[in-house]
Amino acid sequence: MPSELKLNVNGPCGQRCEFCSIATDRIRPDSLEPLQERVRGAAKEGVHALRITGIDPLAFAGILALLETARDVGFTHLELHGPSVRLSDETFVRALLTAAPPYRRYHVPLYGADAASHDAVVGVTGAFDRVLAALDVLARLEAPRAVTVHTVCTLRVLPSLPAIVALTRARNIGFAADLPFPERETPDDPYRRVTPTQHEVADAMIATGLDVEQLMRVSGLWPCALHTRLTHASEAKAARMRMLVPSAHPASIGARTPLVRCPQAGTCRFVPACSGEILRAYVTLHGDGELAPW
Ligand code: SF4
Repeated sequence: MPSELKLNVNGPCGQRCEFCSIATDRIRPDSLEPLQERVRGAAKEGVHALRITGIDPLAFAGILALLETARDVGFTHLELHGPSVRLSDETFVRALLTAAPPYRRYHVPLYGADAASHDAVVGVTGAFDRVLAALDVLARLEAPRAVTVHTVCTLRVLPSLPAIVALTRARNIGFAADLPFPERETPDDPYRRVTPTQHEVADAMIATGLDVEQLMRVSGLWPCALHTRLTHASEAKAARMRMLVPSAHPASIGARTPLVRCPQAGTCRFVPACSGEILRAYVTLHGDGELAPW
């Protein structure tokens, strides 16, 4: 029995994120009724946790009615992903609190710690101010633990990582990071333009000062690449990573394009912390020279 219903909910997205290759202008907003039916069906099977992702689900006209349905049929938990600019509207958030299941987590995308950096990534002037306003509204109306800032480690975002982490620390909210993933394996996918090497991501993440456990949770970062760069930065941290590996789990990879088996996976001792699979598009782009089994 699934423990969570994951719903893709599409509304009109006003952003043009540099790493996104979805033709948002061709996405048709969802209809409310089929989504409500899925929620009711899952509730009958005993599912009480709802994860909403998609192309700006908060911009979907029926979002509050959908959340209300989920709450009415017994959903207790909500994980909310997607551009969060609408959360800057306190009236809307108050309506959301009334409609939604009682336990909520908000995953708020942030790609810079100042307007110039963030707005350049999402392609909209004023977007950073709205994200900060959303964080302010959530700080007034929700507990800090209900909010996690999510970033994507593109070449442009890497220099901002320390400041983004500092911002989340100052607000006492969570932080999570993913490497970019392609939508398709074609030369025109923005993945090829925006994706740094594994070592570049590892160096930038280490520079944030996050502890080793948090570094090991960066989605898409190979444990061997992180370990190689930790060894350069601090042998004590590299040793701590080796100590944590046996009880670690692979960071989830949200890729939609094929993964391939790492040629070292059969003998590599990082495997408890690594799925043993790597993104084929990454190997096409940057090769596999950073693989460094332990
Ligand atoms: S299995 Fe491959 S990708 Fe994973 S840590 Fe080992 S060498 Fe790196």
